[in-house]
Amino acid sequence: MRLVLKRQDDLLKKVEEISGENVFACYQCGKCSAGCPMSTEMDLLPNQVIRLLQLGANEQLLDCRTIWLCASCFTCTARCPKGVSLTRLMEGVRLVLLRTTKEDQVSPKEMEKEFLPQVALISALRKFTT
Ligand code: SF4
Ligand code: SF4
Repeated sequence: MRLVLKRQDDLLKKVEEISGENVFACYQCGKCSAGCPMSTEMDLLPNQVIRLLQLGANEQLLDCRTIWLCASCFTCTARCPKGVSLTRLMEGVRLVLLRTTKEDQVSPKEMEKEFLPQVALISALRKFTT
């Protein structure tokens, strides 16, 4: 999947704006991943998602399944010793993906079909009800 992101740091900037989180506060202790109930199904562990954001490894991050499998349970947020909300960062990455224009200019309806699995809807619902 190819996305139009103008500079290497565009994704980081947008995700920080949407989530209100400081990606660089994370010091990679791994407590978030150790408590994540979905980690066995993920192709990247939650702490690896934040590491890729720090490194600006956009392509790898945007192609991963993890961001769509995150159930927004807030376990990682509660466990983080640095007060980083990975839950919000995951949602930020999902939103950037959904909002960014693809090079082949697919319609929003097609994009929705391709990129909006049920878990994203459930995550949004949880966010507004917890
Ligand atoms: S628990 Fe917090 S500081 Fe530790 S790796 Fe996860 S996000 Fe980073
Ligand atoms: S919010 Fe997502 S990443 Fe965090 S523990 Fe829950 S499922 Fe895992």
